[in-house]
Amino acid sequence: MRTEEVYCSGCGHKVRLVFTDPPPHGGHANLTGDPEIVCVDYEEGCAAIKCLVTGKAGIIMGVRLAKSHLNDGRFRVVQALCDCCGQVADQEILDDTYAMCILCEGTNRWANLKSGEGSESDVSLSVD
Ligand SMILES: [Zn+2]
Repeated sequence: MRTEEVYCSGCGHKVRLVFTDPPPHGGHANLTGDPEIVCVDYEEGCAAIKCLVTGKAGIIMGVRLAKSHLNDGRFRVVQALCDCCGQVADQEILDDTYAMCILCEGTNRWANLKSGEGSESDVSLSVD
């Protein structure tokens, strides 16, 4: 795993990219041999645009960072009932719409998640 600092014209500042090691027994080289690029300076605003450094959709970079756990402090967290695993668990907020469950790594539309307190109210933030 190596880290590179590059200038991101989307954010207007330098960001740190981490190139994760490819899996050791990855099967077909053309599918899995490339390292995955994770931007550890991902911001919620990045999800709205295409990542200018990697050419991926911004939300994909958010999911990658969340799953990599390279910079968990980057995300706001809400506790909510996960649609994927059915547990009340911390959800790392990726953008206005999506959050990732830290238990099962499922991606939820967190704006629709219910709080775990037994009330019917939505989690307080809205996406209007
Ligand atoms: Zn879950």
